[in-house]
Amino acid sequence: MRYDDSPPPPESAASVSPDPPWYARRSTLAVAVAALAPTALAGWVLTQVLTGSGPGGQPPQPKALPASHTTGAGAHGAGDAKASTATPSPAAPDSASASASAPAAPAKGPLAGRTVVIDPGHNTGNFKHTSEIDRQVDIGTNRKECDTTGTTTNSGYMEAEFTLDVSRRTRALLESKGAKVVFTHDADRPWGPCIDERARIGNEAKADAVVSVHADGVSAGNRGFHVILPATVKGGAADTSKIVGPSRDLGERIAGNFARSTGSAPANYLGSGTGLVVRDDLGGLNLSTRPKVFIECGNMRDAKDAAQLTSPEWRQKAAEGITNGIVGFLGG
Ligand code: ZN
Repeated sequence: MRYDDSPPPPESAASVSPDPPWYARRSTLAVAVAALAPTALAGWVLTQVLTGSGPGGQPPQPKALPASHTTGAGAHGAGDAKASTATPSPAAPDSASASASAPAAPAKGPLAGRTVVIDPGHNTGNFKHTSEIDRQVDIGTNRKECDTTGTTTNSGYMEAEFTLDVSRRTRALLESKGAKVVFTHDADRPWGPCIDERARIGNEAKADAVVSVHADGVSAGNRGFHVILPATVKGGAADTSKIVGPSRDLGERIAGNFARSTGSAPANYLGSGTGLVVRDDLGGLNLSTRPKVFIECGNMRDAKDAAQLTSPEWRQKAAEGITNGIVGFLGG
C-alpha cells in the first residue's frame, strides 16, 4: 500500500511531464499489451495502437535507447522478456578472464559492476511491533511513521509476503545479469526497517538504481499497477533535485516493461492511465540520493488483481518486468 493513509495525489500532480508518456515511446509495447490484456482493456490499448501515440494524437516519438540497451532492441513483445531472462552471462571464458590470474573473477553480464538496491515494502512482523513502527522519523520535509504494516488480500495474503517474494525473484534475475544486489531487509529482522533507514541503505550502497516493491490496498474495482516517482523536494535532509530526472527514466522503463511482462494495465484509479504518479510525501523517496522509484504492482483488495498477486507465476513475470526496466535504465 502507499506508505500511509493519506489520499492519493490530485490527478493534476500526476504524470505531468514535458516528455511523451512512456507508452507513446514504443508503439510496439501497446501491441504486446494488446495481445495479453483482457478484453476490458482493449479500448485503452487500441487507442494507442490506432493512433500510434499518446492521448494527444501526436506521431509516436520513440526515445532513442542506448546502444547497449539490448533488452528491447531486437524483437519486441512478450517473447522479449523471456529472451532476456534466458540469457544470463555466458559461461565461455573471454579474454579478460582467460588472461586473469586475479584472485576473484569479476562478475559478468550486462550489469557487472552495477549495484541495485531492492526494498521489499513493509515487513511481515510489523503488525506485532506497532509501537516501534509508529515511531515518528524525520523525512526532511516532514515527520512520518517509521513504517506501516502494509495491506493484505481479502484472503489474508500479506503485502509484506508479496513484496519479499517479488524482491527475491528480482534479485535472482539481477544477479544472473551480473549486478550486485542489496536488500533493505530479507526477513532477517523482526520489524522495519524504518523508511529513513530504507533510504539510507540505498544511499550508502551508492546504488545505481533503487526499487521499492509494494502492492496497493484500495477498494475493489480499482485495478492495475503504478510506479511512484519522486517529486522535487528540498527540506532538511531531503533534496531530490538530482534524482528526479533519472528516477523518471527508471520509472518509465519499469512501467513499460512491467506492462509488457505481466500483461497488466496501468492503474485505472490514478495516474491518468499512464501508470506513473509523482509524490512528495514518501520518506523513502524524499531521502534518497540515488535514482529510486516505488512500484505498486496491483490492488490486493480487488479480486482480479489479487488472483494475479497470489500467483507465483505472475510474480515471476512481475520480477522480470522490474528487472528488464532496471536493465534498460542501466543500459545493460
Ligand atoms: Zn506498501
